[in-house]
Amino acid sequence: MKFSNSYARLGDIFYEAVLPEPVKDPNTFLWNSNLANELLLSDNLTLSTDEMAQALSGNTILSGSEPIALAYAGHQFGNFVPQLGDGRAHLLGEVIDRSGIRKDIQLKGSGQTGFSRNGDGRYALGPAIREFIMGEAMHALSIPTTRSLAVTTTGEMVYRETPQPGAVLTRIAASHLRVGTFEYFAARQNHQAIEQLCDYAITRHYPALQACHHERFILFFDAVMERQIDLVIEWMRVGFIHGVMNTDNTAISGETIDYGPCAMMGVYNPKTVFSSIDRQGRYAFGNQPAIAQWNMARFVETLLPLIDKDEEAAIDIARSHLDNFKRLFEERYLKMMGRKLGITKLLPSDHKLIFGLLDQLEQKQLDYTDSFDRLTRSLSSQSTEVQVRDELGDWYTDWRQRIDDQQVMGTDGQALMRNANPVVIPRNYHMEKVIQTCLESSDAAAADAFLEVLISPYASTNKTLQYQIVPDDADVGYQTFCGT
Ligand code: AMP
Ligand code: MG
Repeated sequence: MKFSNSYARLGDIFYEAVLPEPVKDPNTFLWNSNLANELLLSDNLTLSTDEMAQALSGNTILSGSEPIALAYAGHQFGNFVPQLGDGRAHLLGEVIDRSGIRKDIQLKGSGQTGFSRNGDGRYALGPAIREFIMGEAMHALSIPTTRSLAVTTTGEMVYRETPQPGAVLTRIAASHLRVGTFEYFAARQNHQAIEQLCDYAITRHYPALQACHHERFILFFDAVMERQIDLVIEWMRVGFIHGVMNTDNTAISGETIDYGPCAMMGVYNPKTVFSSIDRQGRYAFGNQPAIAQWNMARFVETLLPLIDKDEEAAIDIARSHLDNFKRLFEERYLKMMGRKLGITKLLPSDHKLIFGLLDQLEQKQLDYTDSFDRLTRSLSSQSTEVQVRDELGDWYTDWRQRIDDQQVMGTDGQALMRNANPVVIPRNYHMEKVIQTCLESSDAAAADAFLEVLISPYASTNKTLQYQIVPDDADVGYQTFCGT
């Protein structure tokens, strides 16, 4: 593996150099051969299965790797914590993938670091399986995300509410820079470190801004904000609820990161919350845009000294850029919903169609994914059309008129809808069942079968149906946990 360590070169205030803590008996539980191929590992790495398990549990250090735990802070549920950092993760280094993109290879659950506080530095197998499956499902849905290369069991138990088998997850990310990384140095008034982070992030994620000199800081903010907007819109397209949108879980790259208490919305309701610790519904499905904006406000605050030496002037500039959030979000959200409804060129009158449907879904307690899938199919199946028409009444007539008018102009609404509306998503009910089966059997077959379907979310095969259907009350009382 050809490691480089550009983050380690930034300087030692950005991390702690610390080795993973060895584990008793590492074994590969899940392996992502597609991702290994994209990372060119199959070409560059000739390790036996056992050697791979040793390396991805942290028992051996691959040549060229300089393991570090990154420093960061963060706002958790609105409260600032000046020091978080990788308390159970080690960045092994970076590799250049098949597309020429630099990717971080990080172990999660690989032991204590200087940032562990009272934590044991470990990860349980159940949440690791969940993170692996969710990342692949999101990637297949074309949503920017960190992914997992492997889940390696440790042969040791971890103690949460109950004893659970331990695991180390190998996480692949465009980078592990977070809003919280900037907040860490802002809290210490280290403007030079923030400038270094900006330039590092620009080089790695927004290279077009390199030529922008002094303007680059606010333009960098715009670019990060736009990626957050696009990301949350993509989450809302598929009914994803992140569950813990703290600033330390907000990646500068625009990838989805941290699959702790996330879940998928079944029945449409913007108030949907599954996380056991989110008692106020701060991170509810429909609150995600407002929280993303709040997180971007915390981000731009860290850049103020670079935006302008005069604080008042810097605040004015920052505010005017942050104010674009709402307009950009609304424009792009409506466009996305238009795609879900098969509308290519959105007209002002379409807003009524979009919100009219959402109202009906909420009032009639209809499933979000299933409803859009049936609308899609109603354009080519008479029996589905009869059923959906019956369910949605006049709304269906209006929508159908709109699609038929568009058809006359040569636009195929159904093709658009097929790419916007997944047939199958990682529903909570199936996710829990799959994890349970894996844990009881100490075997990954159930996860592999689930993944086989999830990697083609827009296609219906004979294996898809079993994962589309859930009992009516499947999500009633359902709760997710951070697994920390
Ligand atoms: P998370 O909930 O995974 O976003 O983690 C929030 C913070 O808690 C990060 O600083 C983590 O590194 C730390 N943390 C979470 N779980 C553990 C653990 N078991 N041991 C040590 N640190 C942890
Ligand atoms: Mg986190």
